[in-house]
Amino acid sequence: MNEHVQSSAGPLGGADVLVVGGGLHGASSAFHLARRGARVIVLEADYVGRHASGVNAGGVRTLGRPLPEIPLALMSREIWHSLAETIGDDGGFVPSGQLKLAESEAELEECRARVALLESHGFTHERLIDAAALRELEPAIAPHVTGGIWVERDGYALPFRTTMAFRLAAQRLGAVFHEGTPVSRIEQCGTRWFAQTPNGAFAAEQLVVTAGAWAGELARQVGEPVPVYPEGLMLMVTHRVAPFCRATLGATGRPLSFKQFDNGTVVIGGKLIGHADLTGRHGEVDFARLVRSAQTVVDLFPHLRHLGINRAWAGVEAFTDDSLPVISLSRRASNLTYSFGYCGSGFQLGPVCGKLVSELVLNERACLPLDAFAIDRFEASVAPPAAAAVV
Ligand SMILES: Cc1cc2nc3c(=O)[nH]c(=O)nc-3n(C[C@H](O)[C@H](O)[C@H](O)COP(=O)(O)OP(=O)(O)OC[C@H]3O[C@@H](n4cnc5c(N)ncnc54)[C@H](O)[C@@H]3O)c2cc1C
Repeated sequence: MNEHVQSSAGPLGGADVLVVGGGLHGASSAFHLARRGARVIVLEADYVGRHASGVNAGGVRTLGRPLPEIPLALMSREIWHSLAETIGDDGGFVPSGQLKLAESEAELEECRARVALLESHGFTHERLIDAAALRELEPAIAPHVTGGIWVERDGYALPFRTTMAFRLAAQRLGAVFHEGTPVSRIEQCGTRWFAQTPNGAFAAEQLVVTAGAWAGELARQVGEPVPVYPEGLMLMVTHRVAPFCRATLGATGRPLSFKQFDNGTVVIGGKLIGHADLTGRHGEVDFARLVRSAQTVVDLFPHLRHLGINRAWAGVEAFTDDSLPVISLSRRASNLTYSFGYCGSGFQLGPVCGKLVSELVLNERACLPLDAFAIDRFEASVAPPAAAAVV
């Protein structure tokens, strides 16, 4: 376990690695690092799991991923299936399968092309199914649905429970979490990184930035600006209804993420954009947009048209210009690793990305290709940095 030196003169220390941001990616990074023997301190501005990681839809989805993310998503999915053995809690993971619906012949053709593209790259986890096979899986679906893509080993989990489980597993291995500790500035002095907070400066050899939608400011301080911007993603949950749908659903031609929990409630989302307030650190619901989404659900399951909405909320998520995250060593400073910008799909990737971060921090070759996620891929499109904060 760490010894934490609380001195008014010197930095708070005793760690090998400082992790800035206590979402799922920070907690998973802390777990994998601590598992490898590193002494880790996590600095979280609010409380662990307060933002996207604790309030998301819980979709554990390899289906529909951009090509560079697929190897990560497939490896992460294997961790999800054995999460209880790895961190002592399964995060509420349910291997419900995920289904992407086609609502016309043209959409089914799109699905066919997608599956063929994946097969040409050697990926066979997405399977095209016709209307009859789909109805066998989900008999309550509206008659206009023409088929879709089925991924049997996908599913969903409980976001706050999962993030907490990674945190607790990391803590059992000696990691220390400081909540209510916002980092205002990061600086490298000699070989040490310093993170300034209202509770004092923390110091360690290695720094990991997992600050979600707020990570752009920290990267800017190091002199490597990234086009990362916040969106307020919305979800709503209905009253209870008798079981009618087992799989987690998405659609091809319109935004949808849809699942029914065992208690009968239905969670509806699918990259529905509300409002994000980065400074106020919260998201806000746009009810007019939620209505459109409720209409999609009623089109697909007409028997739900009288079902009431119990609650709606929005979380702040980080998006990038090319819809891929940054999982990368810094190109400007030593001993600095980034992992942020998960564009609405980072919950599923949390378990594996923490492992990849631990490999980067420990100076190993990452076990999967990460070139597509390099922080310098935006260099041509963003303004050159002002003064670098590295001293
Ligand atoms: C409504 C919604 C639905 C979603 N549905 C899904 C889904 O079904 N499947 C899926 O895979 N993904 C989904 N996502 C995306 C997923 O939740 C995110 O990609 C993922 O949680 C990102 O995790 P993170 O740790 O990078 O960021 P966050 O959870 O945002 O954590 C970052 C943390 O850093 C802290 N922080 C920021 N700046 C500082 C600082 N300067 N000092 C200290 N701490 C700081 C923040 O307070 C925050 O707690 C959804 C997101 C939302 C909002």
